[in-house]
Amino acid sequence: MSSSSDFSSSSSGSEAEEIFYEEIVEFSGIVPYDEDLEPLATPEEAAEHEARMTEEAEIERLYQARFTQEVELAAWCLCSNCSVALATKAEECQCCQEIDRCGEGMDQFGDPKRCITLHPGFKEVCLSKHVLEVAALGLKTKSGKSYKTMFIQGQRTEEEFLRAVAYRQFTRLLWDYIGSSRHYPLPCCAYNKIRKHFPDEKGQYRGFEDDDI
Ligand SMILES: [Zn+2]
Ligand SMILES: [Zn+2]
Repeated sequence: MSSSSDFSSSSSGSEAEEIFYEEIVEFSGIVPYDEDLEPLATPEEAAEHEARMTEEAEIERLYQARFTQEVELAAWCLCSNCSVALATKAEECQCCQEIDRCGEGMDQFGDPKRCITLHPGFKEVCLSKHVLEVAALGLKTKSGKSYKTMFIQGQRTEEEFLRAVAYRQFTRLLWDYIGSSRHYPLPCCAYNKIRKHFPDEKGQYRGFEDDDI
C-alpha cells in the first residue's frame, strides 16, 4: 500500500516537473520571430519624426529669410529692439517674444510682452564691465579654456571677452545657472544690445556658440 502510494506520488511529481519545465520554456524569452517586436518606428512615430524635421527645416528657412531681410524686421520683431545689422547668422534672428522663457522672465515684473532687454537685471548683469569681469572668474569654454586667460593672453580683445561673458550671463539671468555644454537661444535684441554696448572695431561678431569653443 505504502509502495503504491510512493509510486503514485513519484508519478505525479514527474508530471509536475514536466509542467514546470514547459513553463520555463514559455517564459524564457525564446519566442518565435515576430516582426512586430522589431524596434522599428511605428507609422505614427515615423510620421511624427517626419513632421518634426519638416518643421525644423521651415524654421531654419524662416530665420534665413529674416537674416537676408527677404522678410522685413517689422514682420517678426514684436519687441522693437531687434536688428539684423549686427546679427552674424540666421538663428540669431528671433525676437524675445518668440522665446517662451523670455515672456516668463518678464511676467514676474508684470508684463510678459515687454522686451527681455528691459528686464531690471539685464543692464547690470549683462552690460556692466565690472560684473562681467567678476563673472568671468572661473568661467570656462566648452574645451575648458578660461575666458579670462584667453583675454589676458591676447587671444581675445577686451570687447570680445566682455561680449562672450555677457552671452553666458544672459542665459544665467534667464535660466539660472547652466553649464557650458548646454545653450539656450539668445534673442536678437539681447545680441543687439550687448554688441552695441561692447562694439567690435572691425564690426566682426561671433555668435554665442562660436565664442564658447
Ligand atoms: Zn524683437
Ligand atoms: Zn526683445
